[in-house]
Amino acid sequence: MKTLRFILGDQLSPKIAAMSGADPTSDVILMVEVQAEAVSVRHHKKKIAFILASMRAFADSLRGQGFTVDYVKMDDPANSGSFKGELDRAIARHKPDALVMTRASEWRVLEMQRLWTERLDLPVSLLADHRFLCDEPQFRAWAAGRKSFVMEHFYREMRRSTGLLMEGDQPVGGRWNFDHDNRKPAKPDLFMLPPRKFLPTPRVQDVIDLVSTRFADHFGDLEDFWFATDAAGAELARDHFLANHLPRFGETQDAMLEGQAFLNHAVLSLYLNVGLLEPLDLCRRAELEWQAGRAPLAAVEGFIRQIIGWREYVRGIYWLHAPDYTGFNHLEAKRPLPALYWTGETKMACMRAAISQTKREAYAHHIQRLMVTGNFALLAGLDPHDVHEWYLSVYADAFEWVEVPNTIGMALYADGGIMASKPYAASGAYINKMSDYCGRCAYDPAVKSGPQACPFNPLYWDFIGRHEDKLGGNPRMGPVYATWRKMGQARREEIKADSRRIMEALDNGRL
Ligand code: FAD
Ligand code: SF4
Repeated sequence: MKTLRFILGDQLSPKIAAMSGADPTSDVILMVEVQAEAVSVRHHKKKIAFILASMRAFADSLRGQGFTVDYVKMDDPANSGSFKGELDRAIARHKPDALVMTRASEWRVLEMQRLWTERLDLPVSLLADHRFLCDEPQFRAWAAGRKSFVMEHFYREMRRSTGLLMEGDQPVGGRWNFDHDNRKPAKPDLFMLPPRKFLPTPRVQDVIDLVSTRFADHFGDLEDFWFATDAAGAELARDHFLANHLPRFGETQDAMLEGQAFLNHAVLSLYLNVGLLEPLDLCRRAELEWQAGRAPLAAVEGFIRQIIGWREYVRGIYWLHAPDYTGFNHLEAKRPLPALYWTGETKMACMRAAISQTKREAYAHHIQRLMVTGNFALLAGLDPHDVHEWYLSVYADAFEWVEVPNTIGMALYADGGIMASKPYAASGAYINKMSDYCGRCAYDPAVKSGPQACPFNPLYWDFIGRHEDKLGGNPRMGPVYATWRKMGQARREEIKADSRRIMEALDNGRL
């Protein structure tokens, strides 16, 4: 029996469900590079290069194991440019007896797979993706009947089910969460090694050449491409992180420093999300670092929480609410995404740093995404759908299942509190405390009003005032609204006028 096994670009793991039971003597593995997916939003050039080069490397590794791989390159003149077109052509070429696929990670593509399952004239198996530690039914069962989906509660269940950092049914060190010991402000004198970087091989260079001509008008720099594009490289990057960065991961997790794009972050999300690394294996290796006395418990617990907690949790939330999540707009924000999100040209040092780094590296760390570009979008009332498309296009690790809950839910509160019990809104004081940006800025975080004021300051209070009807009753916002309600009319008018001026400057490209 000849089975066609269709592998998508973020399913590059030898253990992917569609490969289970594959027979090298009869089966054909299908992999296709399609234009429609590269432009579904205008993805960063480095992201496209990373995914295509990783797909080509994965195809070669399967060939090395004796499999027949039918790989359709993007510049193949016969390439129809769509999944469906390529699937039809492959079925006509190989005349398989059956089709096997792993469920896509994104609702839109899963819908296509469901349609093919109904319409194709051959038996189709659509298998669950077992690379995650909590599958969809398990998450639904956890969520059922809960009023709120508190990540910390979910995380504890994941600790119990994986046994990570557990002594029997109790957490090692007597606490589930060591964040109290983590998250120190930035210290500019810290010297940190960059993540493990790789020179492009001829195969990677071919892809870079293709991207530079086909996607020349997409956002982002293609120069200095350094990502790993196969499992061996991703494992070297992982080991480099465990040895050099994990011990201080927690300490610098929320810090932001000019010229230090990565600090002690893992820069492994892109490899995890396409299947070059396995989440549980990564966490077990991190746990071993603690057991061997090479990394403190606070750092290792913090890191493991990001993966078995946050990463699994956002995926569960995405599937609980897909496809509606991308359309949520609880705060009715309508302002179109301003040009500075693409150019990085602004006098605001924090925004300039986060966006120019994103353009260069297709990477920004969590606090830059949440508390700089995300916080600004929230306070300025930017349209959540525009903001979602921006995040989905600009980061190498961005796939809808993980990007949407983080953007629409966590950063913008557009889901009305599914992800976060209150908006992550902050004035300039937070950024000043956690970064060294403000010292290089045209604005002053200590100034509350007038042209010199940090724009986050008036925008913060304007946001609070604008949304009193929706947020005023939130107990977690109690102290903030107590201050707002005590504020005199004159101060409120001043905030409004400052915010109007800031929005005008934003529209005119002068902020
Ligand atoms: P580290 O800070 O070193 O964390 C280690 C790992 O934990 C990451 O590799 C990642 O796999 C996981 N992780 C940490 N936080 C989260 C989180 N909130 N959600 C899911 N996984 C998490 N992450 C993506 O993978 N893809 C996205 O498209 C994405 N979009 C985001 C958009 C916004 C607005 C925000 C606020 C966050 C987003 N994140 C996204 C989450 C997080 O910012 C990235 O996972 C992280 O910055 C990746 O860099 P790192 O590997 O150095 O992570
Ligand atoms: Fe950002 Fe405000 Fe600090 Fe400037 S002063 S870097 S705008 S937080």
